[in-house]
Amino acid sequence: MKIPFSPPFVDDDVLKEVADTLRSGWITTGPKVKALEQEINKLTGCQQTLCVNSWTSGAILTLKWLGVKAGDEVIVPAYTYAATALSVIHCGATPILVDVLPDFNIDPAAVAKAITAKTKAIIAVDIAGLMCDYDRLKEIVSAPEALAQFNAESDVQQKMGRVMVIADAAHSIGAKYKHLNSGVCADVNIFSMHAVKNITTAEGGAISLHLPASFNAQEVYELMRLWSLNGQTKDAFSKSNGSGWRYDILFDGLKVNMPDICAAIGLAQIKKYNHNLIVERKRIAQQYEAYFTSRSWAQLPILKDEHRETCYHLYALRIVGITEIERDEMIAHIVKLGVAVNVHFLPLPMLTTFKNKGFDIKDFPVSYDNYAREISLPIYPQLTTEQVNFICSAVEDSYHTVKASEKIA
Ligand SMILES: *Cc1c(COP(=O)(O)O)cnc(C)c1O
Repeated sequence: MKIPFSPPFVDDDVLKEVADTLRSGWITTGPKVKALEQEINKLTGCQQTLCVNSWTSGAILTLKWLGVKAGDEVIVPAYTYAATALSVIHCGATPILVDVLPDFNIDPAAVAKAITAKTKAIIAVDIAGLMCDYDRLKEIVSAPEALAQFNAESDVQQKMGRVMVIADAAHSIGAKYKHLNSGVCADVNIFSMHAVKNITTAEGGAISLHLPASFNAQEVYELMRLWSLNGQTKDAFSKSNGSGWRYDILFDGLKVNMPDICAAIGLAQIKKYNHNLIVERKRIAQQYEAYFTSRSWAQLPILKDEHRETCYHLYALRIVGITEIERDEMIAHIVKLGVAVNVHFLPLPMLTTFKNKGFDIKDFPVSYDNYAREISLPIYPQLTTEQVNFICSAVEDSYHTVKASEKIA
């Protein structure tokens, strides 16, 4: 049996929606993107959503809109995908890395300690689809000490009046925190619709706004839209409708809009997300849980607790009492049996560009421990019960094989 890690979900409805776009005569940003934005608003309850061509470009756009520049600091967890910190670097600012908790998410106490007069934003990452403690993070940025040292240097920062809380919600569309949906828990919530994410547009991202009352979300949406289209006053779609050729470039914008041909894929998926795709993901997670719960060597990921429910993006299993090397041996064995697995994530201080900036993994012990013992198992709607059983046996077999060879050595 050969089991891939995360193939895209492409059914007849996806094919139909994409074909409809191709036949319509309009393939770049237009009606399908608008429809996808409205579906995301509906799913999350956020104020406005702007679709862009990746999470990464959405984060750069958000930070540029906020006025983040050289000399500023943005707090990010050490345990995340590199894009979280790279988006800060691309704005000329400095990412300040902090350690995470055993649930994989950013440690609010570490955030509180890292805030300085230079801090403009925090990017919290909802790892695997389990959401961060946003109430706690908002409390921290609204505490008197944090407010007193906040230094507003742009109109947006002035309106914000405090450090902005941004959600890296790349994993968490459909997840819940205190009865709220991912998309309304931070000031700005950014989703990824990359090929391996729960809802995909091949490549894509979405910026969902849930801003304080000092902002007009409709105006922010319009401005961010300009940001995504070179700062140009008239997009290609309205020009093609015969509303005149003349345009202006208002500021040095980016070019990061999502095309309709991509939005069509996500549009077909989001329409069946809550009642179908996420239910299927939950089915797989529960089958893993039922199997591994009786194995003393398996540390199960949190799927649900008092305040949160994941959207089942990753199944991040950890193995009790093994080293990084043994984990790697387990993975090699599992792959040999035909199952593709993954590790989420290599902590940033273990990557060359962050090492070169002076970060040292020794300063992030929880991130290292989470990483060293982690194996992400396949989880997607197309998996059958039989395949999941096979994956469970492959993991079990690899554990005992690695432990047996350890005893001999
Ligand atoms: C996938 C991912 C990103 C990047 O998303 P892109 O759409 O590929 O730019 C950012 N953060 C996390 C946590 C991710 O998993």
